[in-house]
This record gives sequence, structure tokens and C-alpha cells, in this order.
Amino acid sequence: MSSPTPIPFLDLKAVTAEVRHDLDAVWKTTVDNCAFIGGAAVDSFEEAFARYTATTHCIGVANGTDALELILAGMDVGPGDEVIVPANTFVATAEAVARCGATVVLADVDPETALLNAETVRAVMSPRTVAVMAVHLYGQPVDVDDLATVTEPAGVAIIEDAAQAHGATLRGRPVGSLGIAAGFSFYPGKNLGALGDGGAVTTSDPQLADRIRVIANHGRALDSRYDHVLLGRNSRLDGLQAAALEVKLHRLDEANEGRRAAAKSYQAALPEGFTALTSRDDVTSVYHLYIVRCMVEDRSTVTGRLDEANVGWGLHYPIPCHRHEPFATSRRADLSVTEVLADQILSLPMFPSLDSESTGRVCEVLGADNQPT
Ligand SMILES: *Cc1c(COP(=O)(O)O)cnc(C)c1O
Repeated sequence: MSSPTPIPFLDLKAVTAEVRHDLDAVWKTTVDNCAFIGGAAVDSFEEAFARYTATTHCIGVANGTDALELILAGMDVGPGDEVIVPANTFVATAEAVARCGATVVLADVDPETALLNAETVRAVMSPRTVAVMAVHLYGQPVDVDDLATVTEPAGVAIIEDAAQAHGATLRGRPVGSLGIAAGFSFYPGKNLGALGDGGAVTTSDPQLADRIRVIANHGRALDSRYDHVLLGRNSRLDGLQAAALEVKLHRLDEANEGRRAAAKSYQAALPEGFTALTSRDDVTSVYHLYIVRCMVEDRSTVTGRLDEANVGWGLHYPIPCHRHEPFATSRRADLSVTEVLADQILSLPMFPSLDSESTGRVCEVLGADNQPT
């Protein structure tokens, strides 16, 4: 075989090249204006992102983990409170809860979607449960209407971890507006990525929005320059990041459309022995990641073939939360679905400009288990 052209896991250069001209202008404007933290660019992005998520408030913060932690702090969640986190998530979700002094309780996930569902949440709810972290993992929205059947009667809040799901919708409603508040990450590799770290909270609760804004800015009262009314911290969005994000927000739907087209091509060409996660009719996924399960072959055999063929891949996540040291003793449900998924899941190349020739080649490599025995 001739040495094939590499297919990257994520082509961040292609993503950036599309908006390069506008990004260059942003850099110049920011330096000209010297509004480096906060300022007009941040106000403008916050307004645009609130509109995009069909919420009334957006607060730009330093990163996605802070966004989650600030939501919890804004709700006064702390010691003695339990917060339910799916075991199958990026560790940041659990970290944010623990950083608030609250207790992480780990729930299993649905085998079809790898997300929380009403059953897995119900299995770990207790009288101390105050919130559930609905993680829209891989770009698929959690069915919060299903969750609400168990959380609402118990007065438990749904907080969205929307770090992987900018632009996704559930029955026509955008992620970011599906719970009491949502935390977004603008880490460069996310569907909406900054030129460094960044994050945001969206909510339509004005009191919660105000509290989060105060806490994120050293507890400084909104109407005062010198009065610090809450124990705060520093978690703010840079002007440069906000301006870059607004440029990229204009292209987000188009970029997500490209990801959906790539997912469709994969779906059509997936060889036997590999199962995609279920894509339901009433949700629009934004495919932050394209996950398949290796049902027959050992995953390491498959990744060996991908390496040989110069195809990028990832694992999200091979070590579930409860097997990380800081959460080793967290109360948990039976996590057998998460355990099985952790060994089977494989993330294939996924980015907006990934063409069908590439997805076809990836699927050929997946299906090429030409060694007998
Ligand atoms: C990326 C991510 C975060 C954290 O975002 P940062 O901006 O890296 O702090 C939280 N939750 C999930 C599911 C993520 O993918």
C-alpha cells in the first residue's frame, strides 16, 4: 500500500483558516481599543450568545470548568449538598462540583446514548440531592424532559454542562436554555472555540445571573466600584477571546452542519462490528465527537490499524470518573454501562470540513480486519 495522506483527528488549522481574515482584524481592533478584559467586545458577544441560546443572560468567564463551578456557587450549592454527575464525562464536570465543597454522586448512563437518563438519575437520588449535571456529551443533548420526570417532583435543579454541545437542540429548544443554567467551554477544540481558554454561563434567571457576575468578578457589587458583597474570585473573559468568539459564532451553524454531514457519511459506511451511538429523531446533535463502539475486535487492535493508516483517533473517555483518584470514594450507582463503554468507545476524526472521501477511508480502515485467526 502507498503511504496514505494523514487524516487528522481534528483539523484546527482548517477551522481557523476559514475565519483567518476576520480574526486578524479582531486582534488589531482589540489592541487599538486596549479593552483587554471585559468591555464592548465582551458585552457584544454575551448579548449575541444569549440570543443564540434563547436565554436572557450570558456571562463570559475564564473557562468551562469555572462556568460550571460559578453556577453551583451562584445557587449556593456547597457542603452537605449532593450533585449527580454522570460517570461517563470529562473529569471537569465532577471537579466543578467538588470545588464547591459539594458531594459528587456518580450515575451510570444510557447504553444507547452514553448520557444520563431518568432511570440512571433516579438510582442515585437522595434527600440531599440538589442538582444534576446534565452533560450533553459528544454534542448530543440530554433529554432533560425525561430527567425532569424524576427531578422536578423532588425539587432538584438541572444544570447543563454544554461544553461539547454549542448549537445542539432538543425538540427545537437550544442547549443552554434547557436547565436552570448552562456552562459552556470555548476551549479551542470545542465546536465554538476561542484562541485560548474561555467559557460562559447562560441562564434566564436574572438573580442567578447577577450573583454569578458578582462572584466571577471578585464579589464586587454590580453597582459599585469598591464594595465587595460576596466572597468572589477572578474568572473573566478576555476582550480578544470575546471578539474572536463572535466572529466564529456567525459560522457556528454552518460548521455544525458540516459535522452532521460527516456523521451521516460515517453512518452510511460503518463496517460490521462497529456501532454508532443512537441519534434520536427529536434532537439535533452537533457531533463534537463521533463515537463508535468496537463490538467485536479489541479496541487496541483497531487503533493500531488506524495508526498504521495515518488516521487520527481519540478516546473519550477510557477512564471514567470513579476510577480517577479524587473520585475513587465518591458514592456511585452500579456503573456497568459506563464500564463497558469505557472499554469499547473510540472517537473517529471529526471536524466541519471532513469530507466523505475521508470518512469512507476511515471506515475502510476500520473494516480491514484482514488478519485471519
Ligand atoms: C471541555 C469540557 C469541560 C471543561 O471546559 P474547560 O474550558 O476546559 O474548563 C467541561 N465539561 C466537558 C464535558 C468538557 O468537554
